[in-house]
Amino acid sequence: MEKVRELIDRLESQRILTKEEFCFLIESIEPEDRVYLYERARSQARAVYGNAIYVRGLIEFTNFCRNDCYYCGIRRGNRQASRYRLTREEILECCKEGYALGFRTFVLQGGEDPWFDDDKIAGLVREIKEAYPDCAVTLSVGEHSYETYKKWFDAGADRYLLRHETANPEHYAKLHPSAMSLAHRMQCLRNLKAIGYQTGCGIMAGSPWQTSENLAEDLLFMRDLEPEMVGIGPFIPHHETPFKDKAPGTLELTLLLLSIVRLMLPRVLLPATTALGTIDPIGREQGVLAGANVVMPNLSPLNVRKKYMLYDNKISTGAEAASNIAELRQRMEAIGYEVAVGRGDYPGSKVIPSAPSTSRS
Ligand code: SAH
Repeated sequence: MEKVRELIDRLESQRILTKEEFCFLIESIEPEDRVYLYERARSQARAVYGNAIYVRGLIEFTNFCRNDCYYCGIRRGNRQASRYRLTREEILECCKEGYALGFRTFVLQGGEDPWFDDDKIAGLVREIKEAYPDCAVTLSVGEHSYETYKKWFDAGADRYLLRHETANPEHYAKLHPSAMSLAHRMQCLRNLKAIGYQTGCGIMAGSPWQTSENLAEDLLFMRDLEPEMVGIGPFIPHHETPFKDKAPGTLELTLLLLSIVRLMLPRVLLPATTALGTIDPIGREQGVLAGANVVMPNLSPLNVRKKYMLYDNKISTGAEAASNIAELRQRMEAIGYEVAVGRGDYPGSKVIPSAPSTSRS
C-alpha cells in the first residue's frame, strides 16, 4: 500500500520509474490506490488541457490489408471479411460532413492497402488540406518507407498513428507473422518523429501473452520515444482470427495504463478509444476520468462501418458516431468536460499553416 502510493507520487514528480517499479505498480495496485492514481492523472490532464476534450473524425477508408496480424479482424487471412475502399469523393464527403459537425482533425485510417499508393494518399491529403486549411490531417496506414512518410508530410499530413503493439521482440513475434518485425515498426516510428509528424505509438491492453514486464517495457519505450500521442485500448478477440478464443483485455488494466501514461507524459494526446467504449458502456467516460483527453468519433459512411471490424462487436452507431456529436458533448458535460472545436495539437508543436482555401464549397 505505502509503497504503491510512494511510486505513484514519484511517477508524478519524476515522470519515470524503473522497470521493476513499473512491474510492481502494475501487479500490486489495489482498488484504493487505483482511485488515487486516476485522480492524480486526471488532475495532470486538467493542468495541461483544462476541461477540454479534443475530438477527431475517424475515416476508415479501406479494410484491404496486406498484413496478417493474428489479432486483427481485417487481416489478409480473414476470407469472411467483406472488403471495401472508399472513393476519393466519399472521403471528401466525410470531411465535409465532419467539418460541418465541428471536427477540425480528420484521421484517415486503413489497412495497408497497396491500391492506395503513395501518390493517391498524398493527393488525398493535399485535397483535404486545400479544402480545409484550418484542419489537421492524421494518417494511420501502417508501415512505410521514410520517403513515403516524407512525401505525405510534404503534402500536408500533420500527425501519424502507428501503435508499436509491444516493445518486446518475443512478444511481438507471438502477435505477428514472421514477415513483420518490431525493429521495423520502431524504425518507422523514429522516422515519423524525425520527419516532424506529431507521432502516436501505443498498445492493446491485455493482448495475448502480455506480461506486466512487457507493459513496463512498453512504458519505458514510450518515455524514450516521447510520442505526442499514445493509443491504448483493450484487446478484444475477433471470431475470424487465430486469437478468437483468447481472453479480452480488461477495463481496469486499460484505465491503469492510461493513468500511468498521463503521469509519465503529462502533455500527451491520449484518446479514450472505441475499444474501451466497446467493453464498457461508459468506458470512454472512465478513460477521461483516468487522464484521457481525446475521443475519435466515427465519420465513416454508415454502409461500411460494420466492415471495418478490427474486433467483435465494435460500436459504431451510438455516441461514437460523429453524427451523434451532440450526445458525446452531453456525456462529456455530465462528467465535467467540454468538447473543444479546434485542431487540438500537441502543446507547443510547430504547426505549419497551409495555404488559405480558394476552393471551399
Ligand atoms: N493498419 C494500420 C491501422 C489500422 S489497425 C496500422 O497497422 O497501424 C489500428 C489498431 O487497432 C492496431 O494498431 C491495433 O492496436 C488495434 N487493433 C487491431 N485488432 C484489434 C483487436 N482485436 N482488439 C483491439 N484492438 C485491435
